[in-house]
Amino acid sequence: MTKSRTSRWLLCGAAVALLLTVACLILTVPVKVLHKSDKRSPMTFETVVVGQLGVNCFILGCEETKEGIVVDPGADADRVLTAVKKSGLTIRYVINTHGHFDHVGGNRRVLEATGAKLLIHEADVHFLTRAAGSAAAYGLTSENSPRPDAYLEDGMVLTFGSRHLKVLHTPGHTPGGCSLYLESEGKVITGDTLFADGVGRTDFPGSSHEALIEGIRNKLFVLPERTVVYPGHGPSSTIGHEKLHNPYVRAL
Ligand SMILES: [Zn+2]
Ligand SMILES: [Zn+2]
Repeated sequence: MTKSRTSRWLLCGAAVALLLTVACLILTVPVKVLHKSDKRSPMTFETVVVGQLGVNCFILGCEETKEGIVVDPGADADRVLTAVKKSGLTIRYVINTHGHFDHVGGNRRVLEATGAKLLIHEADVHFLTRAAGSAAAYGLTSENSPRPDAYLEDGMVLTFGSRHLKVLHTPGHTPGGCSLYLESEGKVITGDTLFADGVGRTDFPGSSHEALIEGIRNKLFVLPERTVVYPGHGPSSTIGHEKLHNPYVRAL
């Protein structure tokens, strides 16, 4: 190998090394940035099945600040409070997806024990003080709830720690039915509006099947398909699955 050939090889080697360095920079810098922006502490998302009708009560919490929310403590307040205590969360809000007795019966005791604020849509407030009587009409038991501290409204964003919960008014099962969307987690709590392969009953006074289906189509089926659906009763599903397979919404 001549001297000039050797220096050409050296130059080539240097050029390759430079390219590799640049490529590494291009590849590693965005990965580092992504990693940093995605670095969030885990979120508490616990389900406690409560009461004679098996309501899914949810305990949500920001692990950074330990602030949390309880959704639908329908009964079995002792079990809900034990789970809250174990989580170490300070509960800021108790939220009712709607006013039916099976979703509100544990409100009073959870509110008293945690000092949280109660939120429900204004159109469902009248259910709160009738829970015991409504349950008795079905041969079941429940407890009347205190009045709310504030009303849920469509589009409202509730903050607990670094987490945000968006309220979607999805009436039909009841006039004030709401779903709760955790966009950062890809989760939506749907109360008795949307179930896995089902929808809420609309044979109650004040119910509307048309409003129910419209809310599901316009507020829930527009969410990303991978969004996990957590109904008020029964197993979870996904928006994608329900769009394809839910017989009640597809039929229209
Ligand atoms: Zn209901
Ligand atoms: Zn229910």
